Amino acid sequence: MVSEAVNAVPPALFRKVMSRFATGVTVITTDVGGEVFGMTANAFMAGSLTPPLCVISIGRSAKMHARLASAKKFGVSFLNEDQAPLAQHFAGRAFAPVEPAFKRLGDVSVLAGSVGALAAHVVATTECGDHTIFLGRIAHLAYEDDTPLLFYGGRYAALDQEHRLEQLGPQSFW
Ligand code: FAD
Repeated sequence: MVSEAVNAVPPALFRKVMSRFATGVTVITTDVGGEVFGMTANAFMAGSLTPPLCVISIGRSAKMHARLASAKKFGVSFLNEDQAPLAQHFAGRAFAPVEPAFKRLGDVSVLAGSVGALAAHVVATTECGDHTIFLGRIAHLAYEDDTPLLFYGGRYAALDQEHRLEQLGPQSFW
C-alpha cells in the first residue's frame, strides 16, 4: 500500500485517495420558479432510519447550492448503469446530447428511469469547508429492479455479471 503522512493535504492526493471509495452516482434535483434543475453528486448517504433522513454535500460554488437554499427540498435519483451520459450532462461535462426526462415524486421532480429515488425536505444545514451538508427528511421513496451506475477511481463502472451483489456473501445488512 502506498502511504503518505501529510500536514497540508495536497488536492491531487486527496482526490486520488477519495476516488478509491466506490460509490453510486446520483442526480440531485430541485424545483425553483416552476423549473427543475439537476446536478450530479456522489456525496450522498442515508442518515437515519427513524426518522428517515439523508445527507448530501454540495459545493458552495455550485448553482445547486443557492437553489437548494431557496427551495428547501430536493430529489435524489440513483442512476442506472445506462445513465452515464446523464451523469456527465448534469456535471456540466456532456459527451453526448441527452434529453433528460423527469417525473414527480411527492412535491419534487426526480429523473425517470433511475434505480431508486427519494424526495426530501431540508431540515438542517452545516458548513463543511467549501461545501455545505444538507440534511433532508425523506418524504417519498421509489425504486426499480435494475442495476446501478458506479463511480470508482474517477471513472464510471458497472457491476460485473460475475460479481453481482448476491454472490458476495452475507445478505440483508438493512
Ligand atoms: P448547472 O451548471 O446549472 O447544471 C449542471 C448541468 O446540468 C448543466 O449542463 C445544465 O445545463 C444541466 N441541467 C440542469 N438542469 C437541467 C434540466 N432541467 N434539463 C436539462 N439539463 C439540465 N459536486 C458537489 O457539489 N457534490 C458532489 O457530491 C458531487 N459529486 C460529483 C460526482 C460525480 C461523479 C461528478 C462527475 C461530479 C460531481 N460533482 C459534485 C460536481 C458537480 O456535478 C458539478 O460541479 C456541476 O456542474 C455543478 O452543477 P451546478 O449546480 O453548478 O448546475
